[in-house]
Amino acid sequence: MQKRAFGNTGLTTTILGFGGFHLLEIPVSEANYLLNRYLDAGGNYIETAASYGNGESERKIGQCVSNRRGEYILATKTGDRTKDGALKSLDQSLKNLQTDYVDLLIMHAVGTMEELDQLLAPGGALEGAKQALEEGKIRHIGISMHGQPDVLIRALKEYPFEAVMTTINYYDHFNFPEIQEELIPLAMEKGTAVILMKPVADGLLWRSGEIAFQYAFSQPVSIVVAGINNREMLEADLQYAEQFTPMSEESIELLYEEAPELGTYVCRRCDKCMPCPEGIPISKIFLYEGYYDRQMADGIVTNASDYALKERLRFWFGNKDLAMKRYQTLDIKADVCTSCGDCMPKCPYQIDIIRKLSICDYKLAGKDIY
Ligand code: SF4
Ligand code: SF4
Repeated sequence: MQKRAFGNTGLTTTILGFGGFHLLEIPVSEANYLLNRYLDAGGNYIETAASYGNGESERKIGQCVSNRRGEYILATKTGDRTKDGALKSLDQSLKNLQTDYVDLLIMHAVGTMEELDQLLAPGGALEGAKQALEEGKIRHIGISMHGQPDVLIRALKEYPFEAVMTTINYYDHFNFPEIQEELIPLAMEKGTAVILMKPVADGLLWRSGEIAFQYAFSQPVSIVVAGINNREMLEADLQYAEQFTPMSEESIELLYEEAPELGTYVCRRCDKCMPCPEGIPISKIFLYEGYYDRQMADGIVTNASDYALKERLRFWFGNKDLAMKRYQTLDIKADVCTSCGDCMPKCPYQIDIIRKLSICDYKLAGKDIY
């Protein structure tokens, strides 16, 4: 399996990392098989979090592979924002993982500027992490969040975090474009390792695993971390990693055009529909819909299981309030659309812009769509 530099840490990671969240869903005997099979196949990065099952994921990892501790880079996360809380959480993690150090401690899911302020301030979690570094309990400090990356961009500007964990996949590329346009270049400039999570968009891209992983591995990231809870999935992910060849720009563009999950609802942000005679910022409104619910609720039920999956995933990132606030700042909103239809034939993806704008206005102006 290919390896890449893990930012400026001096570590080298295999391109496929083992995400521990889904270990919660399986018995310890199966976790034991999967974790050992991943290591036997050459994988060298295992990641978990204190909050996954209140330590259950960590305990399973400790139980199953602490005897092979020298063979892998181990990362865990703390969701506590205070120094004392983070240190306490780390000590419990070390106990759960049956080790005396982790290679990486990640400040977990820092979703708001207020949380970032708190963890960076005196007495905050970062101070605890620095103390843990001095005590040899951790080797590096990272930070993570889901979705819209403003907080991570500010975090990297204010503190030299050595790793940043963020969502990247070809579906959310259109919901959170700032990740690839701003966060990744900033991380590259600073030598920060980028940990890519959600390569299959929390399962939305389950029919397209091979191309979804090829897309993920083709990004300028150190590692792609996939949640794994069964043998078939593990073998497929290992195969994708072992057979990986980078995608060309042309094939990525083609994927953006043709991916069935993007279909005729997700806006590709090409702006070919502009200008609108009423001055409606069409693609910006659709971007805010991406923050709101990842453009997952299109109001049409064509397949019951896909609908149920989207209903489960659409609010996982918690950027709904941000989306509504941003929408409120627009001088011209979707509700001034006159349905003139000028924009519609210009969209190369056959998006029903008039209908989508109406759905966006319901969502972003705080109305109930159904
Ligand atoms: S249909 Fe609505 S959004 Fe499209 S050009 Fe006309 S006013 Fe603008
Ligand atoms: S033309 Fe279609 S895809 Fe392009 S910005 Fe407009 S709505 Fe989005």
